[in-house]
Amino acid sequence: MPRHFRKRRWLVIPLALAAGLFVFLFMKWLEAGNNGGQKPAEPFRIAGNLYYVGANDVTSFLITTPQGHILIDGGYPGTPPLILASIAKLGFNIRDVKVILNSEPHFDHAGGLAELQKASGAELWASEASADVIGSGGAHDSSGTFLPYKILVWIGILRYPAARVDHRFRDGATIRLGTTALTAHITGGHTRGCTTWSFPVRDGDRELQVVTACSLTLLPGMSLAEPERYPGIRADFEHTFRVLRSLPADIFVTAHAREFGRYRKFLARDKAKNPVDPFIDREGYLRYIDDGEARFRKLLAEQQQRR
Ligand SMILES: [Zn+2]
Repeated sequence: MPRHFRKRRWLVIPLALAAGLFVFLFMKWLEAGNNGGQKPAEPFRIAGNLYYVGANDVTSFLITTPQGHILIDGGYPGTPPLILASIAKLGFNIRDVKVILNSEPHFDHAGGLAELQKASGAELWASEASADVIGSGGAHDSSGTFLPYKILVWIGILRYPAARVDHRFRDGATIRLGTTALTAHITGGHTRGCTTWSFPVRDGDRELQVVTACSLTLLPGMSLAEPERYPGIRADFEHTFRVLRSLPADIFVTAHAREFGRYRKFLARDKAKNPVDPFIDREGYLRYIDDGEARFRKLLAEQQQRR
């Protein structure tokens, strides 16, 4: 056997190993893209008729009423099995979910909406700006149109099964089901139609005000100084900070669990006199807005300087 051939044979082994590793990592990456690496989280009652049914990071909330339930957010395309298991574990029936709402149409919060809609038969409500994105499975996302994002959408990474939007609403709309009424606040910036929901829950003899606050982060690659990709983004963020500060919030939650301290508050329930108390956190809510606004001002100053 010629010497160079024998040498090549030795090359085959590391090459095969490298190819195997590549395929393995690629599969892992696809899987992570489908579910964002989400793990199950214990479902529990936050307060009154408001329950946590999301994964360990991407959140979903169930609001129960005698006339049917409301579900907010669907996680990644791969998250619905976790959400469905959580709803069942709490003793509720997915078929009783009549209304599905969404915070923002990115694939980590809207990816599972279609499957949850199918499982429940519920009607999906979305803000005007979110509706087109959800209805196209993330293809028509006008608030994330910078090139790397576009490429990811184009090759399908940030796309998800399109859900049927049954109702579109404007800022200030009220959505009622049974005893519960939720008010929609369009708090754009992160995405154009990002929707913050506010509603009261009854907990024993007290009424608590709940706010599901929109993300206050700027998408990577977006400019506040030259916002040709999202005209009005600065005004939207300013409006969002103003609106969020004006809302009476005893309890606040967000689309990513870490941003409202879900796990820390969940653990604190064990030692609390009333398990609802760790979630009553107006201070944390104001800090969330302050931190978001400080990041926004800093980025704006940096981007304006660079011009
Ligand atoms: Zn997002």
